[in-house]
Amino acid sequence: MPITEFSLIQQYFARQKYKSRTTCLGIGDDCALLSLPEGYQLAVTTDTMVEGVHFFAGTNPEQLGHKLLAVNLSDLASMGARPVSVTLALTLPTVNAEWLAAFSKGFLTLAEQHNVDLIGGDTTAGPLTLTVQALGLVPEHKALLRSGAKAGDLIYMTGDLGDAGLGLKIILGYLCKQPDDALNRFNRPDPQIDAGLSLIDVASACIDISDGLAADLGHILEHSQVGACIDWECLPLSDSVQNYIDETGDWNMPLTAGDDYQLCFTVSPDKVEQLKGKFTQIGIIESTPGLRLRKSGNVQALMSKGYEHFYK
Ligand code: ADP
Ligand code: MG
Repeated sequence: MPITEFSLIQQYFARQKYKSRTTCLGIGDDCALLSLPEGYQLAVTTDTMVEGVHFFAGTNPEQLGHKLLAVNLSDLASMGARPVSVTLALTLPTVNAEWLAAFSKGFLTLAEQHNVDLIGGDTTAGPLTLTVQALGLVPEHKALLRSGAKAGDLIYMTGDLGDAGLGLKIILGYLCKQPDDALNRFNRPDPQIDAGLSLIDVASACIDISDGLAADLGHILEHSQVGACIDWECLPLSDSVQNYIDETGDWNMPLTAGDDYQLCFTVSPDKVEQLKGKFTQIGIIESTPGLRLRKSGNVQALMSKGYEHFYK
């Protein structure tokens, strides 16, 4: 018997117990209902992943479920919001039970880790397209925006840079002695929610690195109407990424590759001591517009253009 839309939702997506205090009504009615605690704003974001554009056809569905949720939670993290719930719009070419079981496992496992409720969605037939809307809470007027960086602020980031980019190179054929970590970073990004929460009242601006450091820091510069200089020697590069650069000479990769989902943020010098966590200072905000790189004693201009869907 063919599986109906309703039973598909019941079987794969409506199994969870709701954990978030904001969830009053989850999957099943025409809308979900949320109640918001006083003193908080609702942070709302949505991201779509299209087969052949954002992921390769045949991608492991469990990793896909994880990554789809992770990229959305990363947007909440970059604003300093605590995720509470998500909706999921699925467009599926066929109903494949094995695929759905693995996809929902990857998605719901990460959701549970962060106490995020799946409270609704939509299910349609068509080319494989996955959309999440993620909702989070942020204390009123405390959200970390792109627009707050000032000349003299120090630029920091969480984690390492370029591992996901290396993972993609490996998938495309680059031979790496220890590929597992880089592949894992590409396939299963870890949204930096705790880091984002810890930056409230500390960071002057924040963004998540989805399109590459140069492009995403570029957004902070544009919104804040400032410039920046990044220090090559300070960039947190894993041994694998360093080996890749040594072998290929492609030092641009960690600056331009996307998918790291680390946070890049700015802090005024008088707040630096309030930073709680393992962050790396990578540069400084300057009043002269544009993005620059200090490397081997020279300062050079960096392009800060990211991936553009409509111009190829
Ligand atoms: P409607 O026709 O009113 O849009 P649907 O039949 O599309 O209702 O959905 C029924 C319920 O299942 C709704 O609560 C909806 O939010 C939820 N739902 C549909 N698809 C999904 C999905 N992929 N993941 C989670 N919830 C879903
Ligand atoms: Mg519907």
